[in-house]
Amino acid sequence: MEMAKSDRFIKSMTECDPADRKWIFGNETDDPLRYAFDAKRVVHPGVKGEMLPKEKWESTWKMLTGKPGKGGKRAAYVHIPFCSAKCLYCGFFQNLTDRELEDAYIDRLVEELRRDSQEPFVASHPFHAVYLGGGTPSSLSERNIERLLRAINEFLPLANDCEFTFEARIHHFNDAKVQACIGGGINRFSLGVQSFNTRVRQSLGRREPGEKVIERLHAIHRHDQAAVVIDLMYGLPLQSMEVWEEDVRTLIRCGIDGGDLYQLNVYNDSKLNDAISRGSLPPAAKTAEQALMFRRGLELMQESRLRRLSICHWSSGTRERNLYNSLSKSGSATVPFGSGAGGKIDGYTMFVDKDIKSYLQRIDKREKPLMFVMSPREGYALYNDIIAQLERGHLNLLWMKAGYGTDVEETFSPLFGEWARKGLVEMNGDYMDLTVAGQFWYVNLTQAILDGLVLLREGGKHSLTVRSIAAQG
Ligand code: SF4
Repeated sequence: MEMAKSDRFIKSMTECDPADRKWIFGNETDDPLRYAFDAKRVVHPGVKGEMLPKEKWESTWKMLTGKPGKGGKRAAYVHIPFCSAKCLYCGFFQNLTDRELEDAYIDRLVEELRRDSQEPFVASHPFHAVYLGGGTPSSLSERNIERLLRAINEFLPLANDCEFTFEARIHHFNDAKVQACIGGGINRFSLGVQSFNTRVRQSLGRREPGEKVIERLHAIHRHDQAAVVIDLMYGLPLQSMEVWEEDVRTLIRCGIDGGDLYQLNVYNDSKLNDAISRGSLPPAAKTAEQALMFRRGLELMQESRLRRLSICHWSSGTRERNLYNSLSKSGSATVPFGSGAGGKIDGYTMFVDKDIKSYLQRIDKREKPLMFVMSPREGYALYNDIIAQLERGHLNLLWMKAGYGTDVEETFSPLFGEWARKGLVEMNGDYMDLTVAGQFWYVNLTQAILDGLVLLREGGKHSLTVRSIAAQG
C-alpha cells in the first residue's frame, strides 16, 4: 500500500540530519518571535533550477523569445550597474560612476532594447511593469536618463497603466533629473532612505542629514506625477528602538505614497561586516532584537491605518501598487536588460553578464550577453505561488489543491501542526495564516515548505539551501 504523503514527509524528516530538522520545524521556545529559528536561512526563498551548459544559453534565449508570449501580466527589468559610492551594507555593488563608461553603456543598453524588441516574445503583448534598478539609476546623467527612457518607450509595448519605477538615491537626485524622469513617463520613484536619523545615516556613509531627506521627498512628491515610496531598514548600527520608532513615524508623517520596512542583512563580503569586525562601528542588532523592531514597525503601521500590500510593504493611498515586486515574486515573466539584470521566462531564470566590459563587447558582437541560464524545476509554478502567497502572509490551501493538484495541507499536516503549536501559524479554514512571529520568520517557513516539496517530488537526500548572510544570531 502506498504510504500517505504526510507519513512520507515525516519519514524523510526523521531520516535527515537533526541540525537540518531544526531549520524545518523550528526551535522549542516560548518566544517564537525572537527564537523560533537560530537565524534567517536565506535572503529570498526559492528552488533553483539546473544550470544549463554555456553553449545552450543563446539558443535557449532564442527559443524563449522567438515565439509570442502567452499573455498575462509581465514585467521588464532594466539594470543600471553604477553607483556614485559603495554603501557600507551593500552586497550588490558593481561599478563606480564613470561618465565615459556610462555613455558607452547606455549606447549598448539602448541597442539591447532595440534588438530584443524585434523578438516575438517581447513584441507580442503589453508590459505591465518596468523597473529601473541597480546600482543607482539616479546616478545617471540627465541626458542618459532621457535617452534610456526614450528607448524604453519606443521599443517596449507598455500597457497604458504600466507601473514604471525608477530607483533613486536622494543624494544626487536633483530637480533636473526628476523632471527628466517625469518627462520620460516614470510614475513611481523608489528611494533608498534606510534611516532618517542623521547619525545613523552618516555612519553608513549617507551624506544628507535627515531633514534634508524629508525636504527632498516632499519636493519630489509635490510634482504629483508619480508614487513616491521609500525603503527603511531596521537593525542598523546605532539605530536603537527609539530611533527606529522615529524612522517609522517619520515615514508615516511625511505623507508619501508608501514604504518598505526591511531587515538589515549583514553580508559577509560587505564593508559593514568589516567595519563591525574592526570595531569602527558598533554591532548591528542581533536577529532577536530585529524581531522586536519588526513587531514595533508593524504596530506603528497598523495604528496609522496604512494599507499593507505584503509582509514588509505598505501603501498610504491608491497610487502605490507595488506591482513589479508582486509580479516578480509570483514568477511572472520578467525580461532582463542591462549588465547585472536578472529575469525569468517560462520558468527559466537568466542573468545578464555582470562584467561591464564584457557586456559592452558582447552587445557589439550582437549577442544577448548572458552569464547563466537555469532550466525550470518541475513544479516551479506551484513553488512560485507558494512564495508569492506567503510573502502576503498566508497560504490558500484549497487553491493549492484545486490549482496544482497538490494537497499541501495533508502533506505538511505534521509540520503545520507543529508550527501552530509553536505560535508561527494559525490554521483558519482553507487558509494557513502567519502570526506576527511567522511573518518575521516567513523566509524560513517558505523555504521549509519548498524544500519539503522538492524532497517529496524528487526524493534523494534532503539538502538545505545554504545560508548566505553573516551570522547575526
Ligand atoms: S547605491 Fe545601492 S547598489 Fe549602490 S552601493 Fe549603495 S546599496 Fe549598493
